[in-house]
Amino acid sequence: MLKINNLQAGIEGKEILKGIDLGVKAGEVHAIMGPNGSGKSTLSSVIAGREDYEVSGGSIDFEGEDLLDLGADERAHKGIFLSFQYPVEIPGVTVTNFIKTAINESRKARGEEPMPANVMLKKMREKMALLEIDNAFLSRSLNEGFSGGEKKRNEIFQMAMLEPKLAILDETDSGLDIDALRIVANGVNKLKSKDNAVIVITHYQRLLDYIVPDYVHVLHKGKIVKSGDKSLALELEAKGYDWLKEGAVEA
Ligand code: ADP
Ligand code: MG
Ligand code: MG
Repeated sequence: MLKINNLQAGIEGKEILKGIDLGVKAGEVHAIMGPNGSGKSTLSSVIAGREDYEVSGGSIDFEGEDLLDLGADERAHKGIFLSFQYPVEIPGVTVTNFIKTAINESRKARGEEPMPANVMLKKMREKMALLEIDNAFLSRSLNEGFSGGEKKRNEIFQMAMLEPKLAILDETDSGLDIDALRIVANGVNKLKSKDNAVIVITHYQRLLDYIVPDYVHVLHKGKIVKSGDKSLALELEAKGYDWLKEGAVEA
């Protein structure tokens, strides 16, 4: 589904990603861990196509297509979803309208008719129940005055509504208490299928007790320095990152 080759990218002339190789197949869950500032958010932003980042080398293929030729909106329409580490507030745009627009713009881009209102409503109710979200939530302005936990739950609600092929969750667990974490993880797990894939970016092993990864990668100074299975996350939890920093081995 996703094939990243020797990706190099940065921002404002600063080189951040220094040759990333990563392959993700449909049905897989990949976790990306690593210390603060290692480039995790940069990697997710570059995959999603945020324009403030400059790609200086390498390639990103998504379902056989060169992603780097596409804008962020086109990537979203192709089924790439990024849940932001710091979701932005959009006063005056309700959660409902935001989601309706996102879904129908994607349908339009694919040459499909807008989703009928009754179907949309039914789907919203279903996903809200799944994520234990209150009805009143829908008429609030997007992220405005939301608590940290509400913002993260809203991100997963958007994901549940959009049903992306590739979901990238950037530290969706930070700021969540244990109950919210369980609900969010449960939502992600219910959406998992053999046809989609998830990249979970996290600092903590805790989330990976709930969303069990097939692969764990450690990012350090813009490179993947180690890859393994879920036991690597436990090892990191026990040992920290320092043992990987000194004489780091290529994955
Ligand atoms: P992580 O998500 O792993 O904590 P980031 O991708 O956010 O790491 O950041 C990687 C590096 O890039 C850090 O050194 C950070 O300071 C730098 N960086 C990120 N965004 C910007 C920016 N807008 N301008 C300058 N430097 C940035
Ligand atoms: Mg960070
Ligand atoms: Mg980050």
